[in-house]
Amino acid sequence: MLGIAYLAFPVWAHWIAGASDWSVLEDAPLSPEARRLVDQHLEPLRGETLIDLHAHLAGRGQGSACWVHDDLRSRWHPMSWVRFESYLSAARMGSGDQDALFADRLFALTAAMPLDVQTHLLGFDFARDEAGKEDRDGSFFHVPDEWIYAQAQRGGEGFRPAPSIHPRDPIALERLRTAAAQGARLVKWLPAAHNIDPASPDHEEFYREVIALDLTLLVHCGDEHAVVTPHGFELGNPLRLRRPLDMGVRIVVAHCATSGTGEDLDQPGAPRQPNHRLFLRLMDDRRYEGHLFGEISTITQVNHYQNGLADLLERTDLHPRLINGSDWPLPAIHVLYQLAPLTKAGFLAPEDRAPLAELYDYNPLLFDLILKRAVRHPETGAPFADEIFVVREKLPL
Ligand SMILES: [Zn+2]
Repeated sequence: MLGIAYLAFPVWAHWIAGASDWSVLEDAPLSPEARRLVDQHLEPLRGETLIDLHAHLAGRGQGSACWVHDDLRSRWHPMSWVRFESYLSAARMGSGDQDALFADRLFALTAAMPLDVQTHLLGFDFARDEAGKEDRDGSFFHVPDEWIYAQAQRGGEGFRPAPSIHPRDPIALERLRTAAAQGARLVKWLPAAHNIDPASPDHEEFYREVIALDLTLLVHCGDEHAVVTPHGFELGNPLRLRRPLDMGVRIVVAHCATSGTGEDLDQPGAPRQPNHRLFLRLMDDRRYEGHLFGEISTITQVNHYQNGLADLLERTDLHPRLINGSDWPLPAIHVLYQLAPLTKAGFLAPEDRAPLAELYDYNPLLFDLILKRAVRHPETGAPFADEIFVVREKLPL
C-alpha cells in the first residue's frame, strides 16, 4: 500500500503542493465576495506598484545550467526528493518540463495581478568551503547568476535579477559588479544552506563592495525547512548580522526571522531566544535605523504565524521598515497555509475565510498578498501598513 502511494507520489505531491487551480489563467470569474475582498484591500494601493522582494526560480538543469543534488532526484532519499518535488510541483513543473517554464508560470501569475508588480527573481549559490570551493555534496540546488539575468530580461519590465553570491567565491567581487551592471539591487544569502557566517571578518571586503555598489543583502534568518541545511541553523542567527550592519551594509532580513530560536550572542549564557525577537532587538537598535529592514514572506504560514505575526502587526512603528515578499513558489504549497487556525487565533475575520480559500484556487500570488493585507492583530486590530506592499522611492530596491 505504502509502495503504491510512494510510486504515485507525483499525483499526491500535486494535490498537496499545487492544489491551486490557478483559474485566473483560464479567465474564470471570482465570486462577488472574493472580488469585494480583493477590491477592499487593493483600493488603498491603486496607482502604486506592488513589490515582491522574494520570488525563487529553480530547475532541474533542463534547458538551463540550474543544478540539483542527486539526492533530490532519487526516491532512495524520500525526504529530500519529496521536498524538491513539492517545490517544483507547486510551480506546476512536470518531470519533463524545461526550466524556463518555472519562470513563465511566475510571469503569467504576476501579469494576472490586478496592479503592476516589481518582482525580484532570486538565484541560489552553491555552499562553499573555507577556500571558496563549491561544495556540491553540501548543496541543495543551484540557480546561477546568468540564469537569473536571462529570466529577468525575458520577464521584462517589473522583473529584477537578484543573484545569490557567496562571499568566499574567489570571484565574488567581480560577480557583485556584474550584478550591479545587470540592474540587480539585491543579493540573496541563505547562510545555513550556503555555509556563510555573516559575522566572519573574512567578508569585510565583500561588504565594502556591496556598500560601494549600493546593493542590499537579502539574508534568510531563522530556521529553514524548505531546503536542506547541512551547515546548521546557528548561521541564521540574526545577531550574526551585527558586523555587516556596523559597517553600514543595507540588509533585509527575510521572513523577519520568524522561525526557530537562536543563541543570545549579546549575553553569553542567557537562555535562547526566538529568532524574531533577536531580529526585533536589532530593529530597535537606533544605529541600524537607516539600513536594517524586514521582509514579511511566509509569516502567515502555519509553521510561522505563532512566531512573530502578532509582534510584527503590533509594532506599527516598524512598518515603514517592513517590505512584502511572496517566497514564490511557497504560496502554492497548500499545506503551508491553513486559514482555520489563523481565524481561530483572531488574525482573520471569519467572513474572510471562504473568499480567501477561493483566492488560493484562483491565483496563489494574489491569495498571498490579500491574506497579508487581511490579517489583523487579535487585540489591537492593527493591520500591516499600506506602504509595506508597494515600491517606495526612498528605498533603493
Ligand atoms: Zn525563499
